[in-house]
Amino acid sequence: MLADVHSIVAPLPWQENYWAQLLSSKEQDHLPHGLLLRGPQGTGKGQFALAFAQTMLCDQPSGGVACGQCKSCQLLKAGTHPDLLLVEPEEAGKAIKIDQIRQVLEFSSKSAQFGGYRVILICPAEAMNVNASNALLKCLEEPGVNTLLLLVSHQISGVLATIRSRCQSIDFPIPPGAESTAWLSDLVGDEQKASQLLSVANGAPVTAVQLNDRDWLKEREAIVKTWIAVFEGKLDPVKAAETWQSFSLLEIIHWLLAWQIDYSRFCVAGAENASNRDLIPFYKQLQARLPTAQSHEFYDYLIQVRGILSSQANPNLQLLIEALLIKWAQLGGNS
Ligand SMILES: [Zn+2]
Repeated sequence: MLADVHSIVAPLPWQENYWAQLLSSKEQDHLPHGLLLRGPQGTGKGQFALAFAQTMLCDQPSGGVACGQCKSCQLLKAGTHPDLLLVEPEEAGKAIKIDQIRQVLEFSSKSAQFGGYRVILICPAEAMNVNASNALLKCLEEPGVNTLLLLVSHQISGVLATIRSRCQSIDFPIPPGAESTAWLSDLVGDEQKASQLLSVANGAPVTAVQLNDRDWLKEREAIVKTWIAVFEGKLDPVKAAETWQSFSLLEIIHWLLAWQIDYSRFCVAGAENASNRDLIPFYKQLQARLPTAQSHEFYDYLIQVRGILSSQANPNLQLLIEALLIKWAQLGGNS
């Protein structure tokens, strides 16, 4: 989801090169109709896209970013700029519906109210189902004059190839550790805490900030404890499922997926390459009891659960968590 759509934002320090390139395309009138910002979640692609949309619409950008003062910027802050259309799932993790894309088509067929650009920002692009994607293709094939379509994708395989091929892509990888640690240290005021947050967030600085905004350490600890206890047969999976009700299941799945990947890395490349340092004793224990093939199968199962969570309107969360934990307990040799 796009955070803070009512603030005027700027690109993040590790995005400055991409920013300069885009600005120069804009100045030379070489902007494509469709821009696809892709890469892992949590690096700030959404903020970059929003900052660029705002700069495109600002009457007098200053220092290469939106000024925050002009009439356009006031409307942007109020969320009422007529030439900006933000398209997101109505609820986090859900699909972007075809009706929302119909609005895009209608929006792009008109000319700009303020005589400049019309900007459409879709985030995340993989949330569009096939119907919505096909509808969007029309807009990419016959874009209106001075229309810019910004697509943000954390999972590019989920975006139709025909959409990808009609956009100019910009890749946003995980930024260099030194750069994000410095940035995050300034923000949280503690270098050690910054490194710890980044490690849990798999190097994604914006995710690290979100973790810091809540009591992530306590939350993660609770999930880790349950996870290990269920595998060891010390906690009943159905009881454990109750304790997970208060967390976001989608987020738990992201963590479990990351741990499975980390565990594979541990098996293949050794403990020094595992990024969740606190889980290493557990990984050692897992090695004796969870063959790699089963770990991969479990990973695929987690992907399926994530798919159900994103595609169904009202999945039965309690049942999903119970089934997941029962499966995990069975992998640990507990029936
Ligand atoms: Zn402005």
